[in-house]
Amino acid sequence: MDLANKNIEYCKGVGAKRADILRKELGVKSALDMLYQFPYKYIDRSRFYYIHEIDDDETYVQIIGHITEWHTVGIGATQRLSATFTDGRHTIELVWFKGVKYVKLERNVQYLLFGKPSRFNHQYNFVHPELTLMSKVQPEMTQGLEPHYNTTEGMKRAGINSKTMRTIIVQLIPELQQQGLVDTIGMDMVQRYHLMRLSEAICNIHFPKDTPTMQKARERLKFEELFYIQLQILRQMKRREQNQGFLMPIVGKAFHSFYQQHLPFPLTNAQKRVIREIQADIKSGKQMNRLLQGDVGSGKTIVALLTALLAVDNGYQACIMAPTEILANQHYQSISELLNDSDDIKIALLTGSTTAKQRQPIHEQLQSGEINILIGTHALIEDHVRFANLGLCIIDEQHRFGVAQRAKLWNKNLRPPHVLVMTATPIPRTLAMTVYGDLQVSIIDELPPGRKPVQTLHYSTLRRTTINQFIEQQIGIGRQVYVVYPLIKENEKIELQDLQNGYNQLCETFPHYRISMIHGQMRAKDKDEQMQRFVSGETQILVATTVIEVGVNVPNASVMIIENAERFGLSQLHQLRGRVGRGAEQSYCILLTKVELSKDTRKRMDIMVATNDGFRIAEADLQLRGPGDLEGTQQSGLPFELRIASLSADGPLLELARQAAMEILDADPLLEDMHNRIYKQRLDYLRIAAGNWGEIS
Ligand code: ADP
Ligand code: MG
Repeated sequence: MDLANKNIEYCKGVGAKRADILRKELGVKSALDMLYQFPYKYIDRSRFYYIHEIDDDETYVQIIGHITEWHTVGIGATQRLSATFTDGRHTIELVWFKGVKYVKLERNVQYLLFGKPSRFNHQYNFVHPELTLMSKVQPEMTQGLEPHYNTTEGMKRAGINSKTMRTIIVQLIPELQQQGLVDTIGMDMVQRYHLMRLSEAICNIHFPKDTPTMQKARERLKFEELFYIQLQILRQMKRREQNQGFLMPIVGKAFHSFYQQHLPFPLTNAQKRVIREIQADIKSGKQMNRLLQGDVGSGKTIVALLTALLAVDNGYQACIMAPTEILANQHYQSISELLNDSDDIKIALLTGSTTAKQRQPIHEQLQSGEINILIGTHALIEDHVRFANLGLCIIDEQHRFGVAQRAKLWNKNLRPPHVLVMTATPIPRTLAMTVYGDLQVSIIDELPPGRKPVQTLHYSTLRRTTINQFIEQQIGIGRQVYVVYPLIKENEKIELQDLQNGYNQLCETFPHYRISMIHGQMRAKDKDEQMQRFVSGETQILVATTVIEVGVNVPNASVMIIENAERFGLSQLHQLRGRVGRGAEQSYCILLTKVELSKDTRKRMDIMVATNDGFRIAEADLQLRGPGDLEGTQQSGLPFELRIASLSADGPLLELARQAAMEILDADPLLEDMHNRIYKQRLDYLRIAAGNWGEIS
């Protein structure tokens, strides 16, 4: 029976009970599924180390040597056993905290020690190492690369560990070698991209004969994984391209009169380019789905407005949707100012705080078509908000909107309106190609002229006096200051307390200044009021949680203090920093942390101090944290699971895979060709849930 149809239950070493666990925990139903459980690491059993070669705590090592002495320390529950192990030249400590009674040690015999070193008091030791008498060591224990498999809690409880997995898989290998597997990638591509054949790759990913072979096998399987994800994403894009979109070929009075009379500054070249890209989309007859990336302060608002005016020129309404009331208000205000009461364009604001009385005329004028541009929060996608002819939606900071909400928006007209998604969170290219792989991407990669880069400094809280003096001095010369505290849901109580304490302390330190405070728990009305006091300059300091993260624009606020900066991710720090540096003055961002920092945290702080470039920061964030945690994808996550490829490490391979997928689809968009049947079947089998911008309607 072939491996795909062989029930996992009937594989050697499995049986009904284990099969049940494997199905539940890993989704493994067949022998083939089992073979697709790839090791997450290998331990090199092919060489022996000397103690002096140990220089990190990441790698497992094996050392031959003997024990010179041992003794127990402490009593009762805290008792531990400490032994000295030597390879003949150097010594290292071995420690056991548990089962001290059962550890049997002997002097003057050779042991094979196996384990991962840990660091303690600037020295390496081994905690609970595996010790085997040399006389009992089996040859295969010290050969080649030993595969290790992830196991879940549920599996462990049922007694299935990495070794069990290995044992089950090793017994499938002879069958695999006899039968072979039908390759999932056509011969032409295998040759063109120098890939290993599937069966060989599967054998070698589990039991590689050496490192280069293992890498070749991994590369092949990564390619396959990335290729199918890209094929799925791009197929959706191709399908959607067949959707009709509203035609907006006219550049008319609304656009021109604004451009010629009200534009307060010349556009940057990047802004001009993006507008041309958008224009090309909306007059193409296809529905636009475009992601506009631009670092904080790069000037996305004006692009949004110009796009909205194009829609108006073509007889459509536009809406601009922001994630918070503060932001919606701000968009409304800055767009009102930009339009400067031009009679022809009617705009309105609709948020959660719009009263029923105010809503009435808005609803009417939307339906009559009198309102051209509606700005607001989620409130504008509620079912009872109806448009005469909505043709364009601009979504600011899209990551705060869920799929269902977008779907609602899309149902506001007979065809889905054009969509422009704006984000200030730069997304590394590899991530954009996967998470937003079916969106067209525009990038504003140029800041308006004359900006002074924000100066970023990192201090420990021991330097608080210096910081306070700095605040005093900056307010003295007329600036305003943000003080930001982290707030994450899990810790809400403690952190709100931190915020309150910080506020109280600032009040004590600066009795002669006025201080506002905002956090997510406040009523929208109070938040707005506090914010307004800061915007108007009535208060000098704003103490806040990350509610100010997105979009807020107070040019006179040129100092940002970030408390507990170690608790923020890189992208978030960068977003926060974007709140300053908006005026003509030199701005500062001060990262405050405790003194002792982990290696990763220190790296984050160093990167922030070193660069203002959002894309570099996003790349670094991806490297440090992996895509699951990246800002902007937190809510949505990756829509599919990557088993083996990594978006941070496999950029070049991803480019290749995308190119390969694109070539196939360019020639055969619906995969109808006989030659492409393997791809179509495999896609059906994989059922990858790709970002489904196109599928909602
Ligand atoms: P973001 O991309 O963060 O939304 P904004 O649209 O809020 O940025 O723009 C930031 C600031 O830069 C605003 O005060 C805006 O008026 C100004 N601005 C935008 N484009 C230009 C430009 N081409 N020249 C000068 N100033 C600009
Ligand atoms: Mg903005």
